[in-house]
Amino acid sequence: MTPEFTITDLARHVRELGERYDIFIHYHNECEHARAFSFSNEIETPFIVSYRTYAIAMHELGHLLGHGQDRGCLSAERGAWTWARNHALMWTAEMQSEMDACQSWYKANRKTEHARWKADRNAFQQALGALASAPPAVIED
Ligand SMILES: [Zn+2]
Repeated sequence: MTPEFTITDLARHVRELGERYDIFIHYHNECEHARAFSFSNEIETPFIVSYRTYAIAMHELGHLLGHGQDRGCLSAERGAWTWARNHALMWTAEMQSEMDACQSWYKANRKTEHARWKADRNAFQQALGALASAPPAVIED
């Protein structure tokens, strides 16, 4: 298969999605580490140097832009991958196997991951509640 897009095109695509949806993207060099923060509309993702890292970045964007994000961790994972695949410029076998591997991992670890997902969501809702009841911020210089 001849790829229609270069890695540079794919990296630009992720950057443009971040700009379009006002999502701040933190890039780093740790391959196994990626997360989305719905509270602050940010993601952490590896630098896009391969189809695999493109898939990971698209998946993290999917956690902010996809469906099923408030229905438990397996739904959130599925929704984020569906968004990634539907919005990616291209979808290679390598990207599909990253998706399959991640979903199997989540299924195998569903108990601990669901507990973590719930704790994150509760912290998010508490922060929202605190924000709603907090007095207006006073800015001093
Ligand atoms: Zn995920």
